[in-house]
Formats: sequence, C-alpha cells, structure tokens
Amino acid sequence: MPDVHNWQLGRTMSYPYPESHPERQFAFVFNINRCIGCQTCSMACKSTWTFSKGQESMWWNNVETKPYGGYPRHWDVRVLGLLDEANSNAGIKPNWQPGTGTEREAPYGSYDGMTIFEAAAAEAPPVRQAIGYLPAQDEWAAPNVFEDVPRAGRPAPGFLGLEQAGAQLPEHVAWFFYLQRLCNHCTYPACVAACPRQAIYKRPEDGIVLIDQERCRGYRKCVEACPYKKTMYRPTTRVSEKCVACYPRIEGRDPLSDGVPMETRCMAACPGKIRMQGLVSVDPDGSWADDPQNPITFMVRTEKVALPLYPQFGTEPNGFYIPPRWVPRDYLHQMFGPGVDDALARYRAPSRELLAVLQLFRTTQKIIFRFEIEEGPKVFETEIDGKPWSMYDDTVIGFDQKGREIVRLNVEEPIHQRPAPRMNSI
Ligand code: SF4
Ligand code: SF4
Repeated sequence: MPDVHNWQLGRTMSYPYPESHPERQFAFVFNINRCIGCQTCSMACKSTWTFSKGQESMWWNNVETKPYGGYPRHWDVRVLGLLDEANSNAGIKPNWQPGTGTEREAPYGSYDGMTIFEAAAAEAPPVRQAIGYLPAQDEWAAPNVFEDVPRAGRPAPGFLGLEQAGAQLPEHVAWFFYLQRLCNHCTYPACVAACPRQAIYKRPEDGIVLIDQERCRGYRKCVEACPYKKTMYRPTTRVSEKCVACYPRIEGRDPLSDGVPMETRCMAACPGKIRMQGLVSVDPDGSWADDPQNPITFMVRTEKVALPLYPQFGTEPNGFYIPPRWVPRDYLHQMFGPGVDDALARYRAPSRELLAVLQLFRTTQKIIFRFEIEEGPKVFETEIDGKPWSMYDDTVIGFDQKGREIVRLNVEEPIHQRPAPRMNSI
C-alpha cells in the first residue's frame, strides 16, 4: 500500500491509494458544549434527503447521547474493540508520542498504533482494505436508544481518573453529552478504500465523498469499512447511500444562495448555534493552507480548540469538535486524542480572537470564507484558572466567497429592557 501523510496522526501511514488532495475541503466544527439535543439537524437532513421508501432507518445526520448511545448501536465501542484486538495481536500498545515533527505536520504529536488500514494489511492473509464490521439490521432500527441517559452515580475510586487532583472540576460525577454525527468526508476515506467497484469518489473541487449510484452494486463493503458507520444500505434499491454534503448548496445552486456556497441543511437549521461549516484551502501536499482568517482553519489549526473524532482510526476526518467541558478527561482523550486538555483550556479562557469567532456560529446560512475583527473597548475582567482574563466588545465581520460582508456583530450581546408598562405580570 502507498504511504500517505496523516497530519492528525503526525506520521505517514499506509492507504490503498496514493496521495491526491482536493483544492478545497468540506469541513465543519461542532461545539458540543452548546448542543441541546433537539434533533432539528437530524430532521432537516431526513426531510431533505432520506424520506423515501427503503430509507426509514437511514439517518445521515444523527445526534447520539454518550457514553451509552450510538447509531448504529455501540458502533464506536465495536470499532475501538477491533482496533485494540488487532494492535494487541501485533504486540502494539498504542500511544501518542509528544510532538516530534513540526506544528504543521504533527500538531498533536504522533500516534504509534495501527490504523484500520494498517490493521487490515497485518491480517494473515490480508483480505480487505480496512478492518470493520457490518452492523446487524436491528442495530440500525432505533437511532436514539439511551437518549439523555447519564453515566450516573458516584464512581468507584479510580474510575476514569476522577479522583485525581485537578480532575474534579469541571468534570461532573454524573455526566452525558450529545455527539452530533455525519459523514466526515474524510481525507483518506475507508469507504473509498473498500469499494471493489470504485463507485465511491472524493470530488477534487471540495473533497465531498459521494457514491455513484449507477456503479454501486450493493456489496456493502463501504458499510463494513467506514469506522463511523456513515454509509448505509437501502434495501429497496439495493445500493448504498450516504451524506452528500448538500452539494447543490455547497455549489451555490440553492435559489437562496445568490451564487455563493451555502452551508448544509443540518448546519443551517441548528437552533443551538453549535455548528459552523466551511471550505478550507488545501495545499498540494494535503496540509491545510495557511489561511488564519478562515474561521474553520482558525479554530482547527491556529487555536486548536476543535479536534477530530477518533483520529486513531486513520481516515483523517474533516469534522472537528470542541469537547464538552464537564466530561472525564480519559473518556475525551480516547475520543478526541491528546489535544483535549489544551483545547479545553483555550475554550475556558478564550483568546480575544477566538471569543469573536465563536459568535459567528449560525449567524448566516452562507459559508463564511473570511473573518475580520474590529477592536472595541474592554467590558469585563476576571480571573480564570488563576490567570487574569479580559473581555472586549469587539466587532466580528464575516465575508462570503465573493468577499462581500454577510454578517457583522458584537461580542457583547445587547440587553433589551422592556419598559415598565410592558413588563409581564402573571
Ligand atoms: S465518514 Fe465514513 S462514509 Fe464518510 S468519508 Fe469517512 S469513511 Fe467514507
Ligand atoms: S440542531 Fe443543533 S442543537 Fe439541535 S441536536 Fe442538532 S446540533 Fe444539537
């Protein structure tokens, strides 16, 4: 298998196809801390793309409750188990080594365990491109089992490191959180690697991963290989389907778009204002271009406040998450890798620029390609984690693909006080 560079793992890894990167990449940032689990995103997607016969159990976007929830049921526990087994059979105890490469090539250090591709190559004899499993039909049937079920009670001493000094707060003893999921339009997609018909492809213009419905024969190798379980089989047509990243909107062909790229339906519908989606420029070697005024690049590469989900799988997903503050760190480390502590420290005491960029979530349906900040007065100061922290009422401005201003707002929200005659009195 050719070697490709995976910046999320900080090393080269084996992948069935040689390096080839799009000019721009569909990417998104979800702020888990803000999600209210309303499922508006799931319904926006379903009512747009998967409302037909044979698609009843098909949720391209879903929101599951961690630690117990999963769609299909227990998908991540199963895949992590397979990867653990493969590593242990090879005598490897996977670990993250502190950074040895440059910030650009290895921002989180390097991972020395096998990925799902390397684990498949190590099988004797190697018969598949990625390890995985095909979920049983009933595992797709109920998308939200364990919704709102917490990891409850006071844990036994030693559980997830909760007793350690410094790990007491902000982690809660009883906790859960919502995990928003859709296809990550991965840089090294397992679905593409596994398809024997080469029916799945990554578009060179925006990195969106699509299944050619004419070429697909429904072998379900993609369903087996995708570690995130985001390709799904449709029994009525006998072919597989997956998230199409609302590509007509990304191409600026939605009647409302005025010719510029718009965010997907699930992003645009989110009342919790947790989602921001964009298109990031990619250099020919696959690294994200140095474009710190793009809000997605700023949060992922400059501030490193948003992290990939299960980077150890090796697909280099292009969805990134601001981790939840109240969850035990060991759980988050397993899920988002070693960048968790720094990301949470930055989120708890955001820089002046980050606080401004966080205001831009869900302020427009158009994709923000560039932001600018106009400095305003200091309006608040306090201490966070023993260090002084100040808040400024800066103005943040977002621009569309054509460089036109599409949003402008202040960091400090205005307070509207009703006049006494209009006060509610019950
Ligand atoms: S998340 Fe799964 S379906 Fe989506 S691109 Fe990655 S491997 Fe393919
Ligand atoms: S619409 Fe937004 S707030 Fe509601 S569940 Fe989806 S991501 Fe969470």
